[in-house]
Amino acid sequence: PKIVIAIDGYSSCGKSTTAKAVAARLGYGYIDTGAMYRAVSLFFIQERVLLSSQRDVVLALERIHIAFKHNSRTGKNETCLNGLNVEEEIRKMYISNIVSEVSAIPEVRWALVAQQQKMGRRRGVVMDGRDIGTKVFPDAEVKVFMTADTYTRARRRQQELLEKGEMVNLEEIIQNLEKRDLIDTTRAESPLVQAPDAELLDTSHMAIEEQVDWVIELADR
Ligand code: C5P
Repeated sequence: PKIVIAIDGYSSCGKSTTAKAVAARLGYGYIDTGAMYRAVSLFFIQERVLLSSQRDVVLALERIHIAFKHNSRTGKNETCLNGLNVEEEIRKMYISNIVSEVSAIPEVRWALVAQQQKMGRRRGVVMDGRDIGTKVFPDAEVKVFMTADTYTRARRRQQELLEKGEMVNLEEIIQNLEKRDLIDTTRAESPLVQAPDAELLDTSHMAIEEQVDWVIELADR
């Protein structure tokens, strides 16, 4: 049976790496909802949208089209913003620095949650984010809430950025993670919180393969 697997949690716990691998093993679709908030953030920067202006935000949202395209050459999914591949751009530090402010705007969340709900129910899907088990799919069959200690998360994020050629010191990354966690957990509109029926997974001392097996076992129950 095709089901929804919701993977929520803090930044850089290995959510997307785990979710992607689980989806590949099960033959499910994979949706990275963080990429959608990042793409909106990129558009808002490009168009100099005033975040404090509800009117500006709503008008800008009407001009945004986000899609995931499979690149058969690389075998990877690419996030497209109005037809352009922005996969690389949205992972950069200057986007991480504003994405939590953008994603705290209720109008932004309403628009993206509606799109995510449409994308999800078509077939079996693994969706990762902050509010999948609480808001997007509160009746998801499998819910995981991922966490890890801040130092481990920061080291992983630093390694990821380095692999993409961006050198950022650990202190700056820790500050960014802590700031995002704070905004994500305290915003008014569907804050980041563990769903009562989600299973907690602490990945501080786990390898990716173990995390994947853990989620698959949970889904098999
Ligand atoms: O997962 P990722 O770190 O790429 O997400 C970037 C940011 O997008 C998060 O820090 C959070 O502010 C926001 N986000 C969200 N709800 C989601 C996914 C991401 O608010 N479902």
